[in-house]
Amino acid sequence: MFSDDLKKSGWEEVVPNEVFRKGDWKAWYDTSSVLIIENKNNPNIFPISHPNDSQSNWTVHLIEEICTLEDERFRLTQALKKILKENPDNMATTEIAQSALSLCVHRWLPEGDGTTYRCAVCGTTKRGAMYEH
Ligand SMILES: [Zn+2]
Repeated sequence: MFSDDLKKSGWEEVVPNEVFRKGDWKAWYDTSSVLIIENKNNPNIFPISHPNDSQSNWTVHLIEEICTLEDERFRLTQALKKILKENPDNMATTEIAQSALSLCVHRWLPEGDGTTYRCAVCGTTKRGAMYEH
């Protein structure tokens, strides 16, 4: 069973069959059979479908890989922002950092009226549909 596989991998079952936590990572069911995966920096990293028994362990590893990559993306983004802030007069350095930051793979989260979205990673905003580029 999926919740047992999560617990075997160190996840705490905060709300039975509903909310699971491992350190700063959280997996919880919305109103359907979709798990919302989040870390401390991104409240909606990626939705994951509830797995059948044969995919259960694989899905636990997938969730942990997604969380690890999101943690790493945040760490690297913060390092680039620090480089920009601490080296304002070094054009070569700031150009590299600014260029890398502009290539964000945005994770859009709805704001306010539902037609505005903010990237949970870089803070960029846009209007329109969530999956429009
Ligand atoms: Zn972004």
